[in-house]
Amino acid sequence: MSSDQQDPVKTICPYCGVGCGIQIQQGEEPSDVRFMPWGDAPVNEGRVCIKGGAATEVIDHEDRLTDPLLKEDGEFREATWEECFEYVVDELERIREEYGPDAMGFFGSSKTMNEENYLLQKLARRYGTNNVDNCTRMCHASTVWALRTSLGAGAMTNSMRDLREEADVFWIQGANPGEQHPIANSQYFRQAVLDGATVIQVDPHANKTTRSFGIDDSDRHMHLQLNPGTDIPLLNIVLKTILEKHEENPDEGWIDEAFIEERTEGFADLVETLEGFDKEAAAEECGVPLEDIELAAEKYATADNAAIFTGMGMSQHACGVDNVQNEINLALITGNLGRPGTGVNPLRGQNNVQGTSDVGAMPNVLPGYQLVDDDEARESVEEVWGFEVPDEPGLTNVEISYEAGDSIKGLYVMGENPVMSEPDANSVAERLKDLEFVVVQDIFPTETAEYADVILPATTWAERGGTVTNTDRRVQRMRGVGKVHENTKHDLEILSEVGTRLFDESEDRGSSESRTGSGGGFDFDDPEAVFEELRQVCPIYHGMTYDRLGKGGLHWPCYEPGDEGDPYLYAEEFDTESGLGHIEGVEHQPPAETPDEEYPLILTTARLEEHYNTGTMSTRSSTLNRQTPENFVDVHPADADRYGIEDGEYVRLSSRRGEITLEAHVTEDTKEGVVWTTPHFAAASANKLTNHVLDERAKIPEYKAAAAEIDVDVEP
Ligand code: SF4
Repeated sequence: MSSDQQDPVKTICPYCGVGCGIQIQQGEEPSDVRFMPWGDAPVNEGRVCIKGGAATEVIDHEDRLTDPLLKEDGEFREATWEECFEYVVDELERIREEYGPDAMGFFGSSKTMNEENYLLQKLARRYGTNNVDNCTRMCHASTVWALRTSLGAGAMTNSMRDLREEADVFWIQGANPGEQHPIANSQYFRQAVLDGATVIQVDPHANKTTRSFGIDDSDRHMHLQLNPGTDIPLLNIVLKTILEKHEENPDEGWIDEAFIEERTEGFADLVETLEGFDKEAAAEECGVPLEDIELAAEKYATADNAAIFTGMGMSQHACGVDNVQNEINLALITGNLGRPGTGVNPLRGQNNVQGTSDVGAMPNVLPGYQLVDDDEARESVEEVWGFEVPDEPGLTNVEISYEAGDSIKGLYVMGENPVMSEPDANSVAERLKDLEFVVVQDIFPTETAEYADVILPATTWAERGGTVTNTDRRVQRMRGVGKVHENTKHDLEILSEVGTRLFDESEDRGSSESRTGSGGGFDFDDPEAVFEELRQVCPIYHGMTYDRLGKGGLHWPCYEPGDEGDPYLYAEEFDTESGLGHIEGVEHQPPAETPDEEYPLILTTARLEEHYNTGTMSTRSSTLNRQTPENFVDVHPADADRYGIEDGEYVRLSSRRGEITLEAHVTEDTKEGVVWTTPHFAAASANKLTNHVLDERAKIPEYKAAAAEIDVDVEP
């Protein structure tokens, strides 16, 4: 190492929820931040995917926000931090006085750390509103709802390590780990497959998961390529097949009678729901041969240990909660929960989407998933915070955006990009124009920043410390190198300053009796001090400290100092009120929009390995952009013939909400009648077309099915 280089620091990849450890090192120039492997990192043992290896490329990108900006006469001008803080605090106070605290919305970020999201939700609640949410709403709100209410915790029941060692069957439905969780796929799941595990993939689209396991060329593995939005009928065929086979041969172990008897409730409801169910008609609706689904049912039900992986193909539907409930039904009737190599396991998208929810950046829960309308839980948090929290759940992020200009007058956005990430994006952009006050706190000028009144430039993931929680509930520390741009601030510093000015000056100044401590409860020395407060109000994190997290991290729940954390959940009982796992029969609910004469195709959406959600970072990475520089749409050869589309030709893809122009890829990866595209690229984002209809309970939008049409002969 040359003398002008800093020592490398161990941190966590900023992209997906696998939580791979990497090292970064700063050279003589602050802007010179390089990636280095971390050979014995606990999750990935030195391996990274293309995104992880390219993660440092964007730290000194020319588009970085380097100074605060205030909008004046429709144009942004450079401003001082002092001007911006004064403006933000004045506007927050004005809105509360004129309209009340529920006229503000606060968006946390799954790309920022636990401490930052904890402080943001505390800020919202001290302000007087539960209108705080994060983009888990867009990816797994329905999964969290179903898992929390039927099993106890809204998270993976098992860990990548026990699944690698113990699972005999991987049932992967609506998830694509080959593309979205490449290191989990290659280092854990693929190893299990090499040792003999079987993969059943249920997905409308053939993808890198299909190819990475050789599913398309195998007698052992299966790909059930169903029509979008038919997951409930497909699982109902599986469940009914298992019940029928058990009836015929009770000794073959298709269901686990003892487990159902001792550890579950609701089995009779499932049996009743499936009584009149017609498997043949359902298979036709799914577009999958009945005998294939029956064979898949046999492989799952007769395995020693079978694990379900669930992804956004399941959660992003208006029936998302019921989709996941049916996976829970399958695991419970076969006794595949509560031991290694089993479970219902959501593969979480962003590097801290699990943690952002854990720390309470959601409208219905406080830290540790304690319900805001549970008096006892709320009062225990209030005791530590020293102020009252509203006792009614607030609005979700999509609801906040839809209320913009009506009941919502102002928005505080930390590290989110709703103009790209929310469905029916054109109308989101229109409504943001109606807000009186928008703060955007970010590292790049996002599409949402265009609508801001003030832009606060934050530091990147590489420049600050804190903790993040990965997809299997492992809380790990991130560590930063020095700042790259002097006039930027860490998210925690910004929130701390806003909170202190807002609450210390308006309420607590001069009051030595305040239980909130100095700064109105927002003055912290460093992220560790915030974590120390977080663990006082978040039971599942209570046993963790920065020292204990060390370099390997700990899985939650970790209730007391000394607890080692649980790699798998529910060994003895479920974390529900009765201690039982909840079974509930569900029936098919077709997508809100189905093909018709005007829009005869089904549009479905998903992500790519090389890009990341709204592309704020990944589309600025030269390595990642070289791989896939622009959006495209997969079209089945039969549809291409019908429309006269050549492979590589530009087409116009439209829905009732908008249109985008993009290159057509003619491929059998997609089914006839189904077109498939991505949300990553601003110029042609799928979310200009997607439907904003929501799951009634979890309020997640139906990104995965909309009616669409294609036009040819368009200019690129
Ligand atoms: Fe980063 Fe995920 Fe790739 Fe690991 S698998 S390097 S966490 S993007």
